[in-house]
Amino acid sequence: MTHTKLAIIGSGPSGYTAAIYAARAMLQPVLFAGIQSGGQLMNTTDIENYPGFKDGVDGPQLMLTMREQAQRFGSDIQDKYVVAVDFSQRPFKLWTTLPSSIPFDVYEKAKPAERVELMKTIRTQEPEWTADSAIISTGATSIMLGVPGEDLFWGRGVSTCAVCDAAFYKEKNTYVIGGGDSAMEDTLALIKFAKSVTILHRRDAFRASKIMQDRVLKHPKVKVKWNTVVEEVLGSQQVEKIRIKENGVVSEVPADGVFIAIGHTPQTSIFQDQIQLDEHGYLVTRQSASKVGLELAEKAINDKGLLDFPSMTSVEGVFGAGDVVDVRYKQAVTAAGQGCAAALDAERWLEAR
Ligand code: NAP
Repeated sequence: MTHTKLAIIGSGPSGYTAAIYAARAMLQPVLFAGIQSGGQLMNTTDIENYPGFKDGVDGPQLMLTMREQAQRFGSDIQDKYVVAVDFSQRPFKLWTTLPSSIPFDVYEKAKPAERVELMKTIRTQEPEWTADSAIISTGATSIMLGVPGEDLFWGRGVSTCAVCDAAFYKEKNTYVIGGGDSAMEDTLALIKFAKSVTILHRRDAFRASKIMQDRVLKHPKVKVKWNTVVEEVLGSQQVEKIRIKENGVVSEVPADGVFIAIGHTPQTSIFQDQIQLDEHGYLVTRQSASKVGLELAEKAINDKGLLDFPSMTSVEGVFGAGDVVDVRYKQAVTAAGQGCAAALDAERWLEAR
């Protein structure tokens, strides 16, 4: 069993930035990067909105540089998944090995309730790691449609981030899939560049906030196809068209860009029985812009007289950063900022003890 002052779980921009700050504060953090380290940006080619790179930067290159920067100051990066945690008392316990009775694919494919049972079995083993504090930066993944062509044309016309990619679609015909606030936001991002933006929604009404709907619907570039689903994304090198089913009628329409905005899944299943999550499964901190976040903040203020450690979760000593806490912005630079804040909070909290 190995002990650390600070365990960081997750290796996107928030995790690596937390590691850089914590290592420079001499906390000798251990960062659990998973087997495929680097998070969502490992699937991105050109990042043009990360400050400091005026000509853009390749996603994997940016993540590798962050990793090396974290290592340079003494972060211990472990390319392992954390498969279970016990945050019920300090030091916290972390497991990175499955017992022989649980094959990895069974663990990986387990539904949330099944995962809880598997974790109970894992916790009967001796933990490999203990930690005085932890930062959770496990990220969120975009929900995909699961239709043919979607994976093939990922990054070649299919995107899940209009804020990141809209500028590549100047004078192009684009489609946004979804009817929530993310779809409205993607549409507003695309309007500035694209020739046309058509929203395809599976029902006859949006669930997005009224104000966002109004902004989108009154724009002359925007069309909406109600009761419409995508059946296939088609093309050769790039997306060229999509097959859609509109009110039961199938047709193929020319398309240059397909922006999927049907929600995200925060990666919190290993924390679900340990820590407070919101109704969408996001980790809640004292600064989460939600009812439960406000309750946490209020409790912290009542207990301590002031709002110390805004990035702290419902468990004292456990902090959250990046897309796993961020319902709204989900940008590499906001995630990095939140990683910095969580590391500073963890450092101050450890010092205060
Ligand atoms: P969401 O509210 O869950 O909306 C997802 C949309 O995608 C829904 O319209 C849903 O259709 C549709 N959808 C889901 N699965 C689909 C599928 N398989 N095929 C086709 N369509 C599908 O997700 P979100 O828009 O990402 O928002 C998540 C949360 O973040 C919300 O609380 C939202 O308010 C918040 N948010 C806020 C802002 C902001 O305030 N600036 C921006 C983004 C997000 P149905 O309507 O039929 O279910």
